[in-house]
Amino acid sequence: MPEIETDYLVVGAGASGMAFTDALIASSDAEVVMVDRRHRPGGHWNDDYPFVRLHQPSAFYGVASRALGQDRIDESGINAGFYERATAAEICDYYGRVLDEHFLPSGRVRFFGMHDHLGNDADGHLLRSRVTGRTTTVRVRRKLVDATYIESSLPSTHTPGYTVDSAAVVVTPNQLLGLDEPASGFTVIGAGKTSMDTCCWLIEQGVDPDTIRWIRPRDGWTADRASIQPLRLVGAFVEWVAAQNEACAQVESLDELFPTLEDRGAFHRLDPGVEPVFNRGAILCEAERVMLREVGNVVRLGKVNHIGADRIDLDEETIPNEAGHVVVDCTAAGLATPPDRRVYDPDRITIQWIQAGIAPFSAALIGFVEASREDDTDKNRLCTARGFSRRADVVSYAAGWLNTQRGFLLWRAEPDLAEWLSTCRLSPFGNAGPYLGDPATREALGRMVGAQSPAVENLQRLLAKVSSFETA
Ligand SMILES: Cc1cc2nc3c(=O)[nH]c(=O)nc-3n(C[C@H](O)[C@H](O)[C@H](O)COP(=O)(O)OP(=O)(O)OC[C@H]3O[C@@H](n4cnc5c(N)ncnc54)[C@H](O)[C@@H]3O)c2cc1C
Repeated sequence: MPEIETDYLVVGAGASGMAFTDALIASSDAEVVMVDRRHRPGGHWNDDYPFVRLHQPSAFYGVASRALGQDRIDESGINAGFYERATAAEICDYYGRVLDEHFLPSGRVRFFGMHDHLGNDADGHLLRSRVTGRTTTVRVRRKLVDATYIESSLPSTHTPGYTVDSAAVVVTPNQLLGLDEPASGFTVIGAGKTSMDTCCWLIEQGVDPDTIRWIRPRDGWTADRASIQPLRLVGAFVEWVAAQNEACAQVESLDELFPTLEDRGAFHRLDPGVEPVFNRGAILCEAERVMLREVGNVVRLGKVNHIGADRIDLDEETIPNEAGHVVVDCTAAGLATPPDRRVYDPDRITIQWIQAGIAPFSAALIGFVEASREDDTDKNRLCTARGFSRRADVVSYAAGWLNTQRGFLLWRAEPDLAEWLSTCRLSPFGNAGPYLGDPATREALGRMVGAQSPAVENLQRLLAKVSSFETA
């Protein structure tokens, strides 16, 4: 059995493993072995539905050392006026190039695609090829890096939480592209971003919104794409962060938080008459919200339990499975919601969300801190994990925002980290310098920074009253 040695064994070559490795090798002379059961890097993007695009602009996704896309502002289509967003195919091509043109030529990174990481014993970590069955033992000098902890769940690979009769037709969004006969209509199941993408795609294909039935047990908050923009449009992002800091500093109770954030334009609801109950970071532009509101047949009778040829059993009622309808399963969780754990352990690093909502930034920061600090206690102080909890409720939002703002206060106090932050392309603030000068942006920046500490203090106070929650 072949035996190899490395400083770091990175398990998972998705956005997390790639951004971590890129930042680590940029700031150290470490050697890395990467392993992924998929054949190429890019993680879930390899299996996503073909019409998916990044939810955020490409300008701050990927790895720190290489741009994704051209930093172009789209001139047409639903994204007109906003920074371009890569398709899944473009993202996979990008990560392939990062591997082939940067990691491998560095001579410090080896990649084992189509290999499972099976665990470790006294001899080392065991990798097994899915193609040949051959195993390789990896002796790790420094740390195992678990870049699978927030692995995404996708419609094309997950098992739905309901049963389906063999006579019923249920497809994934990926399979919609294989339809060879027009349907009489579509029943879309799910409340998250995948169901939103699917409804928008169907309407863009010319499907009459009246023939779409959307089983959406709960509504979620959405952030406005106009607010989550970098570079020339970064002023809107600064305003968005300022609005959230001010709301978090001002509210007297967590119950007031989402209504206050909505009043300030930080979050939007899909249906004006329905109060959203969760936030999983979905980003929509106003044109998409208008399009989605055209779907009037929204079924709010709980979750689906069973789909038969002629019936759909929901928590609260059974409804007909319309003849000729194609049922589209959009119930995969997307974002993983494992419990938060310590990022740096003596023999392991667990990549998680450090900053609310931007996975590659968090992974890159963890890599930079690993390369530039010795003491694990110090590293954990700088990188505290706070992910999306399963409930994704106001407590989850408040904890994530608190963690993010407290993080910025800590990072700005360390000169090397402050310097890294100001140039890292994975945050809208990196490289934003030249665009922060206009008076409105400067004013918003002042409010954003001024409200940061009060927001942290108030959120700490409010979260301390939540018995099920411990602040990190
Ligand atoms: C449709 C969609 C759109 C999104 N848009 C955005 C966005 O715009 N911005 C954003 O920040 N986030 C977005 N996200 C969130 C997303 O979770 C992150 O961006 C990021 O892609 C997650 O990367 P990851 O590497 O943690 O996980 P994954 O991409 O799931 O990668 C994990 C990898 O680990 C491998 N693996 C797991 N176990 C093993 C094992 N035992 N052995 C070998 N390999 C293993 C898997 O094969 C996989 O390739 C989106 C998520 C989805 C689903």
